[in-house]
Amino acid sequence: MANEKALTTHAESFSEWYNEVVLRAELADYSPVRGCMVIRPYGFRLWELMRDRLDLRFRETGHQNAYFPLFIPQSFLAREAQHVEGFAKEAAIVTHTRLMSVGEGENATLVPDPASKLEEPLIVRPTSETIIYEMFSKWVQSYRDLPLLYNQWANVVRWEMRTRLFLRTTEFLWQEGHTAHVSEAEAEEETLRMLGVYREFMEGWLAMPVVTGRKSESEKFAGALRTYTCEAMMQDNKALQNGTSHNLGQNFAKQFALKFASEAGTEEYAWNTSWGVSTRMVGGLVMTHGDDKGLVLPPKIAPIQVVIVPIFRKPQEGVEVLSKAQELSAALAAAGVRAHVDARDNLTPGAKYYEWELKGVPLRLEVGPKDIAKQQVVLVSRVQAEGEERKQFLPEAEALATMGRRLDDYQALLLERARARRDANTYRGVDSYDRFREILDGAGGFVYTGWCGSAECEAKVKDDVKATLRCLPFEEFRSPEAPATCIVCGQPSTAEAIWAKAY
Ligand SMILES: [Zn+2]
Repeated sequence: MANEKALTTHAESFSEWYNEVVLRAELADYSPVRGCMVIRPYGFRLWELMRDRLDLRFRETGHQNAYFPLFIPQSFLAREAQHVEGFAKEAAIVTHTRLMSVGEGENATLVPDPASKLEEPLIVRPTSETIIYEMFSKWVQSYRDLPLLYNQWANVVRWEMRTRLFLRTTEFLWQEGHTAHVSEAEAEEETLRMLGVYREFMEGWLAMPVVTGRKSESEKFAGALRTYTCEAMMQDNKALQNGTSHNLGQNFAKQFALKFASEAGTEEYAWNTSWGVSTRMVGGLVMTHGDDKGLVLPPKIAPIQVVIVPIFRKPQEGVEVLSKAQELSAALAAAGVRAHVDARDNLTPGAKYYEWELKGVPLRLEVGPKDIAKQQVVLVSRVQAEGEERKQFLPEAEALATMGRRLDDYQALLLERARARRDANTYRGVDSYDRFREILDGAGGFVYTGWCGSAECEAKVKDDVKATLRCLPFEEFRSPEAPATCIVCGQPSTAEAIWAKAY
């Protein structure tokens, strides 16, 4: 039963609000293993709906799913120098394969059996480049075997010290695409194509506007030539890196002997890409749309799009009202709408409204004996466009016929709201470092400035205001007039950069 104590508001503490919403909307819970989370059915359904859509798009763009082992030989991780540096400090290591009992009675305990110590430790995968390219090297001989376009849905482990449900957990779920190509140009095209698939999904399905661009050298993936990113702004004006796509060049191909005979008969190393999105997107969804009443979900990803609440006082009215509710639900399901009848008899309608608003269901239909007599329903929208009524009395036939359009409008409204909020918290033309610091130390947001390209200037910003260079935005996001000088050192700018505090 819903806990009707008011949520902490955004204004009181966005961070507290986030934790409470994730727990009380039953998306996830803390687990007995520190840093790991339990994804509850409502949260997992959200992830499944994301997964289904992305999986379809991966197949439409020519990729196939496969599965590789959870364990990676330690020596594999060590081969690519940047890669090992990126992941060595957060590794889970398997060293033994058996337990044995020691001690007697109350002192009895289990310890790893020294006789079962592995010759080479295994790493629980933090990402699978190494083991996948090892396998690719067995399967590729000629240019005719390329490209290989693979994807894997899996869990990965990165031992995190400070964790947040969905946003940063020691174990998380994701997909990792891995491809091999004959040329750098083809690999680059693939890297950007998949970034485009992510962007289209985030904007079209999650109603989450993103800025796309390239990561700086210090922010790129460990072992990549170039990393591209989708950066979203949360309602506390912090950035969330929501998905990345990497052109790995030949760095891994060289370490794992991923070679092929070219058309001209020469031996060449393949070019790789990898790209991923994770359960972190669920956290991003919460922080992009949620409000002081709880979650707000875009219809395309909402486990329940329309909840139907039957309303009656006398038991003899119940039969008729419940049967009408089921009839409405069946009609909506036939039209492709995910509808749910809340027939629980131990809760008042008010308690049900509270719970489904907390869980972010876009639309609610209320139906009672008087409505049935008038052949009408009451439609209540979780959020409204300016000037729109929260509650509408509609003829039943009209409500059913327009539900699809109403859900589309709702989806569009959420994207529009999120984009307006992002734009209102975006700063361009900032030309003094004091002003730059003032924004990032204050309310925050995305600050566009000139940058000289040096890692020292990035490091100074990190030290001064704990903000990072989110990306060098693609042309469509850049300012009409390119900034002339680096915001930090005043030297000539080589690229426009976006800075923000980030999750
Ligand atoms: Zn500089």
